[in-house]
Amino acid sequence: MAHRQRTAVRDGAGRVSGPKSCASCGRDIQWRAAWARDWDAVRFCSNACRHRGVTAVDRALEAGILTMLSAAPSIDPLDVAQQIGGDEWRAMVEPARRAARRLVAAGEVEIIQGSRVVNPSTAKGPLRVRRPRA
Ligand SMILES: [Zn+2]
Repeated sequence: MAHRQRTAVRDGAGRVSGPKSCASCGRDIQWRAAWARDWDAVRFCSNACRHRGVTAVDRALEAGILTMLSAAPSIDPLDVAQQIGGDEWRAMVEPARRAARRLVAAGEVEIIQGSRVVNPSTAKGPLRVRRPRA
Protein backbone atom coordinates (compact mmCIF):
# COMPACT_ATOMS: atom_id res chain seq x y z
CA MET A 1 0.00 0.00 0.00
CA ALA A 2 3.02 2.29 0.10
CA HIS A 3 2.12 3.85 -3.22
CA ARG A 4 -1.09 5.27 -1.80
CA GLN A 5 0.74 7.62 0.53
CA ARG A 6 3.05 9.20 -1.98
CA THR A 7 1.05 12.35 -2.59
CA ALA A 8 -1.09 14.70 -0.62
CA VAL A 9 -2.76 17.73 -2.09
CA ARG A 10 -3.59 21.17 -0.83
CA ASP A 11 -6.73 22.87 -2.03
CA GLY A 12 -7.37 26.57 -2.59
CA ALA A 13 -8.35 27.06 1.04
CA GLY A 14 -5.16 25.40 2.25
CA ARG A 15 -6.84 22.16 3.25
CA VAL A 16 -4.86 19.06 2.54
CA SER A 17 -6.62 16.07 1.11
CA GLY A 18 -5.20 12.63 0.56
CA PRO A 19 -4.78 11.15 -2.87
CA LYS A 20 -7.85 9.47 -4.27
CA SER A 21 -8.56 7.02 -6.99
CA CYS A 22 -11.16 6.95 -9.71
CA ALA A 23 -14.33 5.04 -8.78
CA SER A 24 -14.46 3.61 -12.32
CA CYS A 25 -10.93 2.90 -13.59
CA GLY A 26 -9.17 2.81 -10.22
CA ARG A 27 -6.32 5.06 -11.34
CA ASP A 28 -5.09 7.95 -9.21
CA ILE A 29 -7.02 11.14 -9.75
CA GLN A 30 -4.73 14.06 -10.46
CA TRP A 31 -5.74 17.04 -8.39
CA ARG A 32 -6.78 20.10 -10.39
CA ALA A 33 -7.17 23.64 -9.17
CA ALA A 34 -10.63 23.72 -10.75
CA TRP A 35 -11.69 21.03 -8.29
CA ALA A 36 -10.39 22.81 -5.19
CA ARG A 37 -13.87 23.78 -4.06
CA ASP A 38 -15.38 20.31 -4.26
CA TRP A 39 -12.43 17.93 -4.19
CA ASP A 40 -14.22 15.79 -1.61
CA ALA A 41 -17.01 15.18 -4.12
CA VAL A 42 -14.76 14.23 -7.03
CA ARG A 43 -15.14 10.51 -7.76
CA PHE A 44 -13.96 10.04 -11.34
CA CYS A 45 -10.74 10.91 -13.16
CA SER A 46 -12.41 11.93 -16.41
CA ASN A 47 -15.72 12.47 -18.13
CA ALA A 48 -15.27 9.11 -19.83
CA CYS A 49 -15.03 7.38 -16.46
CA ARG A 50 -17.95 9.36 -15.07
CA HIS A 51 -20.11 8.20 -17.98
CA ARG A 52 -18.87 4.64 -17.73
CA GLY A 53 -19.32 4.41 -13.98
CA VAL A 54 -19.30 0.95 -12.47
CA THR A 55 -21.64 -1.67 -13.94
CA ALA A 56 -22.97 -4.96 -12.62
CA VAL A 57 -20.38 -6.69 -14.81
CA ASP A 58 -17.65 -4.59 -13.18
CA ARG A 59 -18.84 -5.74 -9.75
CA ALA A 60 -18.91 -9.34 -10.99
CA LEU A 61 -15.28 -8.97 -12.10
CA GLU A 62 -14.31 -7.66 -8.66
CA ALA A 63 -16.10 -10.57 -6.99
CA GLY A 64 -14.48 -12.98 -9.44
CA ILE A 65 -11.02 -11.71 -8.58
CA LEU A 66 -11.62 -12.14 -4.85
CA THR A 67 -13.13 -15.60 -5.34
CA MET A 68 -10.18 -16.76 -7.42
CA LEU A 69 -7.78 -15.36 -4.82
CA SER A 70 -9.37 -17.55 -2.19
CA ALA A 71 -8.09 -20.54 -4.17
CA ALA A 72 -4.73 -19.26 -5.47
CA PRO A 73 -1.92 -17.08 -4.08
CA SER A 74 -2.07 -14.80 -7.11
CA ILE A 75 -4.07 -14.56 -10.31
CA ASP A 76 -3.83 -12.99 -13.75
CA PRO A 77 -6.70 -10.60 -14.56
CA LEU A 78 -6.97 -12.47 -17.87
CA ASP A 79 -8.21 -15.53 -15.97
CA VAL A 80 -11.06 -13.52 -14.48
CA ALA A 81 -11.84 -12.00 -17.86
CA GLN A 82 -12.16 -15.51 -19.31
CA GLN A 83 -14.25 -16.76 -16.43
CA ILE A 84 -16.70 -13.86 -16.50
CA GLY A 85 -16.59 -13.08 -20.21
CA GLY A 86 -16.83 -16.55 -21.73
CA ASP A 87 -16.57 -16.27 -25.50
CA GLU A 88 -16.46 -12.48 -25.17
CA TRP A 89 -13.52 -12.54 -22.77
CA ARG A 90 -11.35 -10.24 -24.87
CA ALA A 91 -13.77 -7.40 -24.19
CA MET A 92 -13.35 -8.11 -20.48
CA VAL A 93 -9.56 -7.76 -20.33
CA GLU A 94 -9.43 -4.03 -19.65
CA PRO A 95 -12.53 -4.13 -17.40
CA ALA A 96 -10.79 -6.87 -15.38
CA ARG A 97 -7.73 -4.66 -14.97
CA ARG A 98 -9.99 -1.77 -13.92
CA ALA A 99 -11.64 -4.05 -11.38
CA ALA A 100 -8.22 -5.02 -10.02
CA ARG A 101 -7.25 -1.35 -9.66
CA ARG A 102 -10.49 -0.57 -7.81
CA LEU A 103 -9.72 -3.43 -5.44
CA VAL A 104 -6.25 -1.98 -4.85
CA ALA A 105 -7.87 1.34 -3.97
CA ALA A 106 -10.16 -0.52 -1.56
CA GLY A 107 -7.17 -2.16 0.09
CA GLU A 108 -8.35 -5.64 -0.93
CA VAL A 109 -5.50 -6.58 -3.27
CA GLU A 110 -2.15 -5.46 -4.59
CA ILE A 111 -0.83 -5.63 -8.12
CA ILE A 112 2.54 -7.20 -8.78
CA GLN A 113 4.89 -7.62 -11.70
CA GLY A 114 7.39 -10.35 -11.00
CA SER A 115 7.55 -10.23 -7.22
CA ARG A 116 7.41 -6.45 -7.01
CA VAL A 117 4.34 -4.47 -5.95
CA VAL A 118 3.67 -1.84 -8.61
CA ASN A 119 1.59 1.30 -8.87
CA PRO A 120 -1.65 0.24 -10.58
CA SER A 121 -2.05 3.68 -12.14
CA THR A 122 1.08 3.40 -14.19
CA ALA A 123 1.85 -0.33 -14.51
CA LYS A 124 2.10 -1.47 -18.11
CA GLY A 125 2.16 -4.98 -19.47
CA PRO A 126 1.35 -8.29 -17.82
CA LEU A 127 0.53 -8.13 -14.16
CA ARG A 128 -0.78 -10.33 -11.42
CA VAL A 129 -3.07 -9.69 -8.49
CA ARG A 130 -2.65 -10.98 -4.94
CA ARG A 131 -3.89 -10.29 -1.45
CA PRO A 132 -1.80 -7.62 0.33
CA ARG A 133 1.20 -8.91 2.26
CA ALA A 134 2.09 -7.31 5.56
ZN1 LIG B 1 -10.99 6.89 -14.27
